[in-house]
Amino acid sequence: MTVTRFAPSPTGYLHIGGLRTALFSWLTAKHNNGKFLLRIEDTDMARNSEEALEAIIKAFDWVGLDYDGEAVYQSKRFDLYKQYTEQLLEEGKAYKCYMTREELDALREEQMAKKERPRYDGRYRDFTGTPPEGVEPVIRIKAPQEGVISFVDGVKGEINIAASEVDDFIIARADGTPTYNFVVAIDDALMGLTDVIRGDDHLYNTPKQIVVYNALGFRIPKFYHVAMINNEQGKKLSKRDGATDVMEYKTQGFLPEALLNFLVRLGWSYGDQEIFSLEEMIELFDPKDINKSSSSYNLDKLLWLNAHYIKNTPNVKLAELLKDFGVDVVEHDKLEMLLDATKERGKTLVELAEQIRLILHTPTEYDPKAVKKAFKGEAKEILTDFIAMLQTWEKPLHLPSDYHAVLEKIVEEKGIGFGKIGQPLRVSLLGAMTGSGLDEIMAIIGVDETIERIERAVA
Ligand code: GLU
Repeated sequence: MTVTRFAPSPTGYLHIGGLRTALFSWLTAKHNNGKFLLRIEDTDMARNSEEALEAIIKAFDWVGLDYDGEAVYQSKRFDLYKQYTEQLLEEGKAYKCYMTREELDALREEQMAKKERPRYDGRYRDFTGTPPEGVEPVIRIKAPQEGVISFVDGVKGEINIAASEVDDFIIARADGTPTYNFVVAIDDALMGLTDVIRGDDHLYNTPKQIVVYNALGFRIPKFYHVAMINNEQGKKLSKRDGATDVMEYKTQGFLPEALLNFLVRLGWSYGDQEIFSLEEMIELFDPKDINKSSSSYNLDKLLWLNAHYIKNTPNVKLAELLKDFGVDVVEHDKLEMLLDATKERGKTLVELAEQIRLILHTPTEYDPKAVKKAFKGEAKEILTDFIAMLQTWEKPLHLPSDYHAVLEKIVEEKGIGFGKIGQPLRVSLLGAMTGSGLDEIMAIIGVDETIERIERAVA
C-alpha cells in the first residue's frame, strides 16, 4: 500500500511551498488508495511554537487536506530514537566522539585554509582508549568511507554522491537529543513510508538518511524531490512576492479549491488543462509526472482560477463565506439574484463583498467626476419622469426584466440614447459609475428603494 506523509516543522506558518508538497503527497496517497500521514517535526525545542503548530493544522483544515490516523510528534519519541542509538552503538555502527567544540573549530579552520570542505575527520571512529575527562560525547554514525551513495529520485533521476561527501555525522548530541536526519529516517521507516515527496532543499539530506536506513536495515522508500517555486523573475519566492502564508490567502478572499488548483499546477501538468477539481486531481496525479524544472508563481493565474471557482460556487455557500468579509446576506430575500448579479465581478471574496455592499448601501456620497459626467443636460428631468413611470407602472416589478421594460419604455418615449438615463441612474443608485447591471440592481433593492435613491440624487 502506498504511504506518504507531510512532515512540517512547527517553526513558522505553513507556506505555499509546504502546502504544495503536502498536496502532492496527499494526492499520491489518494490516487493509490493509500494512506497520508502527518508528522510534526518538533525536535528543535528552541524554535518550535505552539502557535505555529496551530497555524499549520488550521491551514490544513481550511484547504481540506485530511490525514490518516493520529499525527506523530517527534518530540514524544525521544525514547524510541534513543533505543536505536543504543542499538547502533552495540552493533558497532555508531560510536562516541569526544571531540570538543574548540577541537572541531580548529579542524574546520585548518580545512578551510586548505580550501577543503569542512568535514569531521573520523578521529574517534576506531577509538578504544580512555575517554578524555569532562567531555560529554556526541554519537556519530559510521558512514561508508568509500564508494558512492546512490538512489533514483522520482523527479531528478539518478543521484550519486561520493561517500567522501558524507562524514560520520552526529546522530545524538552531547545532551542526548537526536539529530534531524537520524529521526527523519527512523520515522519514515517506522511509519511505513513508501513514497517520500518533499522540497529539493532536502535533496542533500537524503544520502545521510540512506546511511541511517542501511545501518538500521530499513527498507529505503522512493524519494521525489520537488523543485522550488520561484517568483516571476525566476528568483526564490519571498514574502515580497505576495502572501506566502497559506492563511493569508483566506484573508485575501481566495477559495481553498482555487489555491489547491493553483498549487497542483506548480510543478505538475496534464496536457494543457488548467482547471482541476479535487476528484480529477486524485484521478490524474502521478508523482512520476512532477516536472524537473522549478515552477513560477503567477498571481494573475491564481486570481483567474479564484474567479472561476467563485462563479461556480453555489450562492448559498458564497453567502456563508462572505460573512467573514463583513457582508451578511444569508437571510436576504433576493440572495440568488444578488449573487448572480455580482459574482462575476469579484475575483476574490473581498472584491465580491465590495460589489454587494455597493448595491445594498444607499449611497450617501457621490463620486464628483461621475456626477459631472452623468448629470448633464436634462438628466434630472429624465430621472424624474422615470420615477413617475415606476410609480404608475401597471405590471409587477420583481425581476430584472420587469425593470428593463420600464427603461426601454422611457428611452423610446423620449427618443433618447440609453446612456442618457443609464449613466445618471447608475450614479443615483450606486454613487459611482461602476457596478453590476442596472436591471439587476433595481430588482434587488426593489422599487421603493430605487425611487428613494433617485430622489436623493436629484434633490
Ligand atoms: N520538516 C521538514 C521541513 O519542514 C521536512 C522534512 C521532510 O519532508 O523530510 O522542511
